[in-house]
Amino acid sequence: MNPTLKDYRRYNKVMITRQLPIGSMCGHKIDPVNGPTNNCMDCWMSYWNNDANRVQIWMNVINNDGEQGLVNEFGAKQVKWFKRFLIAVKALEKQGKL
Ligand SMILES: [Zn+2]
Repeated sequence: MNPTLKDYRRYNKVMITRQLPIGSMCGHKIDPVNGPTNNCMDCWMSYWNNDANRVQIWMNVINNDGEQGLVNEFGAKQVKWFKRFLIAVKALEKQGKL
């Protein structure tokens, strides 16, 4: 299940205005500019969760150029993790944790 553009727009507000209750419990160091180089879910969640600015930038790209715009700008790997991030947001929202 992939988030749709409608989902992106819906989560836009939530993600920019609130910190999600997801912490980096893994102890890995995250490069705040280039993002994690591993496949650790915690790291990737923190990458966006700790930086509302970054989420805003990504959302702007999505709103203007769609998902392909994101892939062009950041690469398929980051976009793949971003989708997982959004799915996690969705799950938390469903559980009433947001
Ligand atoms: Zn990690």
